[in-house]
Amino acid sequence: MKNKNLILNLFLAFALILFLQTSCNAPSGETEEQTDTVAEVVHEEAHEVHWSYEGETGPEHWAEIVQDCSCGGTAQSPIDLVGASKDKALKALQLTYTAHDELEILNNGHSIQVNYPVGDFVIDGVKYSLVQFHFHAGSEHFIAGKQFPMEVHLVHVTPENQIAVIGIMIAEGKENEFFKTFWADMPAEKAEEPVKKALAFDVNKMLPAKKNYYHYVGSLTTPPCTEGVKWFVMKNPIEASAEQIAKISSLMPKNNFRPVQALNDRKIMEF
Ligand SMILES: [Zn+2]
Repeated sequence: MKNKNLILNLFLAFALILFLQTSCNAPSGETEEQTDTVAEVVHEEAHEVHWSYEGETGPEHWAEIVQDCSCGGTAQSPIDLVGASKDKALKALQLTYTAHDELEILNNGHSIQVNYPVGDFVIDGVKYSLVQFHFHAGSEHFIAGKQFPMEVHLVHVTPENQIAVIGIMIAEGKENEFFKTFWADMPAEKAEEPVKKALAFDVNKMLPAKKNYYHYVGSLTTPPCTEGVKWFVMKNPIEASAEQIAKISSLMPKNNFRPVQALNDRKIMEF
């Protein structure tokens, strides 16, 4: 049963990658190719770097340089989470994450990403499968005008490519025990293949004890900035030591966060 779920979730993860790739024009000079193996899909995705966090390929140019994408849309992420209203329809987060027995960690040139295809997030009876989590430094979302040193994103998808992301702020404080489990394996250099090894670890240990949250509908915060993403940003931060924050930040592009976007006519809800 566990294996069956793992295979399904891996399939979903790669379906998402394919979906994200094909929802944008291929960069100039490249055409879409039929990819028939997982390795090829990952390879194609990894070498297609045509955006960044600064200069001429930075966030203010994403809408121009990544054509047919949603980066210039009106329901984008991240945002400053302020002026939220209580919504009685919101419920406690239904998370059924399970322990994992394999570490798969990647430096994709934009972030440090841990593939974690076990566990679900159920929203209104719809099951979103956890695919991976990754880091931004500083945080992408602000809470009432305040930016945190880091933010971690847990990315979930449904078989229909609906996306839900849980964001957790990381404040400077005591050493984070969960981060220590993959501390020595974080790849210093960008690579196309993840580092893999047998390792028992449990993403539940990363979550804050109190899981109150802000909710709104936004987008992916990297190209193609796909809209319709359900965001759940935890109100309570987790902690990491100054040394841990500095180390993880040093392995990613400097300031790998997208600036906050206009709220426009959206509402922020809170639980
Ligand atoms: Zn992210």
